[in-house]
Amino acid sequence: MAPEIKYNKIFIDNQWVEAEDINAAVKAAKRAFHRNSEWRLMDASQRGKILNKFADLVERDADYLAELETYNNGMVLSMCRRFIGASAYHIRYNASLADKIQGSTIPCDGDAFSYTLKQPVGVCGLILPWNVPMLMFISKVTTALAAGCTVVVKPAEQTPLTALALAALLAEAGMPPGVVNVVPGFGETAGATLTHHPDVALISFTGSLEVGKLIQQAAGTNNLKRVVLELGGKSPLVIMNDADHETMMNKVLGYIEKGKSEGAKLLTGGKRIGTTGFYIEPAVFADVKDDMAIAKEEIFGPVQSIFKFNTLEEAIDRANATNYGLAAGIFTSSIETALQFSKHVEAGNVWVNTYLHHGPQLPFGGFKESGIGRENGLDAVNSYLEVKTVTISLPKKV
Ligand code: NAD
Repeated sequence: MAPEIKYNKIFIDNQWVEAEDINAAVKAAKRAFHRNSEWRLMDASQRGKILNKFADLVERDADYLAELETYNNGMVLSMCRRFIGASAYHIRYNASLADKIQGSTIPCDGDAFSYTLKQPVGVCGLILPWNVPMLMFISKVTTALAAGCTVVVKPAEQTPLTALALAALLAEAGMPPGVVNVVPGFGETAGATLTHHPDVALISFTGSLEVGKLIQQAAGTNNLKRVVLELGGKSPLVIMNDADHETMMNKVLGYIEKGKSEGAKLLTGGKRIGTTGFYIEPAVFADVKDDMAIAKEEIFGPVQSIFKFNTLEEAIDRANATNYGLAAGIFTSSIETALQFSKHVEAGNVWVNTYLHHGPQLPFGGFKESGIGRENGLDAVNSYLEVKTVTISLPKKV
């Protein structure tokens, strides 16, 4: 299909759709990506300095941003405060990468000299989910900026607030106009327009598998967009007999006893709590069979399924019998068991005697239907770069 845009509309699924805001944002991002723009002529080290300044501003406004994130998606304030520290750390890591992106020289056959350049892919559309909005914004945006791209961000329709506040801080940090654009809007309109836009070179999306499939289709419609997809998961956590149950048990019992001694009421799981807000007691299911819906489908809420198994081989086979492959964990005191499990489980992240250990340096993403590409670390920056091979005729003899 021809990449057609006219009168602020875009052609999606055989019809013209209003696309004024996204079109304006993509236009600004495209202008900011022109080879002679301020952004493209800027030294890579200066890109890093602006990002470091952005980290300073996030720390300066920590209280405000934490409260805003609580209003944004309902996450408790103490957790939002912790995310601010993680966010600043994340930005500084990506800032440090900006001037370390480099190609290589290649000893090729024939009378020639070859080298590679790593260059930003162009305008990137970044589509965010509602569950960790601020950190997700920071992870995707600062990775793309470290690579030298320009971006149009579409936060989830439920959670636009911190994305807008962070965009203002990026401007204050010295980001040239048009480099970062935020357009709040619905997925079916703003999101779909971005994924169909012929001037967008890459879509990085975090969200559900269903929408991830739509995005991959859209990415091939008006041009051939690169896609990075971080999708759902159904991640196994294996507890071996030789795991340190006692320490874990005492820790859990300690919390329960502490809660009781401080006057808290011990609740059983699965029911709604009160009528104010939308809170559910954490629920634990036992005797869950592999083919039940709660075993296979992503619930994305406080529901835990516990399965019994006899051998490591069986645990690996059953853990792999899902179309997802985001993460997995194992608790064991045997290094051999840990290494065997890590090698054979089909998941993008494996945690041993820990769970959800993340960091800006650690690539994160999924196998199979849990996604394409990685967030964080050098592997993430590579997603936002094209490799250009340059070969120059050069006789060996002088
Ligand atoms: P979602 O897929 O419904 O929405 C995510 C984003 O996509 C939103 O911004 C939405 O507006 C947009 N969108 C919706 N339809 C679209 C379309 N047709 N075209 C373009 N964009 C569209 O997901 P959600 O409910 O916001 O988030 C929960 C999901 O995200 C869960 O499946 C969860 O596992 C996943 N998630 C994954 C990771 C990870 O790292 N793999 C992290 C967080 C959340």
